[in-house]
Amino acid sequence: GQCILVCPVGALAERDDTETVIDYLYDPRIVTVFQFAPAIRVALGEAFRMPPGENVEGQIVTALKHLGADVVLDTNFTADLVIMEEGTELLHRIEKGGTLPMFTSCCPGWINFAEKNFPEILPHISTTRSPQQCFGSMAKTYLAEGMGIDPKTMRVISIMPCTAKKEEAKRPEFLNKGTPDVDVVLTTREFARLLEREGVDLSTLEPSAYDNPWMGDYTGAAAIFGTTGGVMEAALRTVHKVVTGDELEGIEFQPVRGNEKVREAKVDLQNGSHPVKVAVAHSLKAARHMAEMVLAGEAPYHFIEIMACPGGCMGGGGQPRSKKAYQASWQERQNALYAIDRQRSVRQSHNNPLIEKIYDDFLEEPNSHKAHDLLHTTYRKRKRTIKHTMKEIWQEIEAR
Ligand code: SF4
Repeated sequence: GQCILVCPVGALAERDDTETVIDYLYDPRIVTVFQFAPAIRVALGEAFRMPPGENVEGQIVTALKHLGADVVLDTNFTADLVIMEEGTELLHRIEKGGTLPMFTSCCPGWINFAEKNFPEILPHISTTRSPQQCFGSMAKTYLAEGMGIDPKTMRVISIMPCTAKKEEAKRPEFLNKGTPDVDVVLTTREFARLLEREGVDLSTLEPSAYDNPWMGDYTGAAAIFGTTGGVMEAALRTVHKVVTGDELEGIEFQPVRGNEKVREAKVDLQNGSHPVKVAVAHSLKAARHMAEMVLAGEAPYHFIEIMACPGGCMGGGGQPRSKKAYQASWQERQNALYAIDRQRSVRQSHNNPLIEKIYDDFLEEPNSHKAHDLLHTTYRKRKRTIKHTMKEIWQEIEAR
């Protein structure tokens, strides 16, 4: 039977999509292309009795290949791409007197919240699509072209930390000639159930690596997208280089790390004309506070990162839940994301050789006309719609 999942910030209740994924995997006419978000690899192991924060990236690749996936890739590649687009957009807004502060746009929980509650704030939100949607769009154009695959036979399947990502994939802005860029979204917990159903025990698998010459590489900057503060830190590494010509000293930018609900920092861009003031906020309460400050003209920032879930995506509503140590496993997940960053040989998005290649061969330059068509979007005021009452949601939970 179908199971209802409940997300605190996104779509209130969603269908379990594992059946659809199984249908695609077993259909020989279909080319399946998988992506999984930065936060998945440091949490999925918990569903297989592994310690919190164990990085199971390589085991996820092995598991998907074992299930018959045709192409296994990583949302981290398009996290790097988002940094190029969003960082360039920020610099243009600063240089050309555009709307500031600019908010990040990766989190559909935040986008839904802003569209429903603060429509006046929409011009402040970066037009760059989220890494999940940039992945779908690049898979069905650039990757399909490179691999010689008809995009109509391709199904892009995401593994994501929240149900808000399912709703995001269905937005009409992300349909390309009527077909969605991302076809199915599984939460981390649904993916764990799919593996169990197919008899795959993640904890027994050997890791495998990516080998795709178009989208199969990522940097440390992309890895930290999974924690609060990560998108900001990744963006600053690239903005610093673009403005000053030098890499951000020390790479790790401590002032935006930590778990306080709102954090702020200033980056001096020597040789550049602008010290950039930034803020990081997580949880919807902190998001509301930031939105109200900006609308009141009291936010002295250029750039604000918002994640709707406490902790960012590592604490997303679709992630495995440890009954015993919820907060503790957060810390382990965050440490693991920072450890992945430290272990990568390349730690800044602009230095990813496959990012350089995608601009040289396909997108021309960040914010080009083509990049705008494929990697940016628009937002609209949306009426408050309540699909289910709380009572109905609880009846569904109890009926499981
Ligand atoms: Fe989803 Fe991450 Fe936003 Fe939470 S913070 S709603 S997990 S995108």
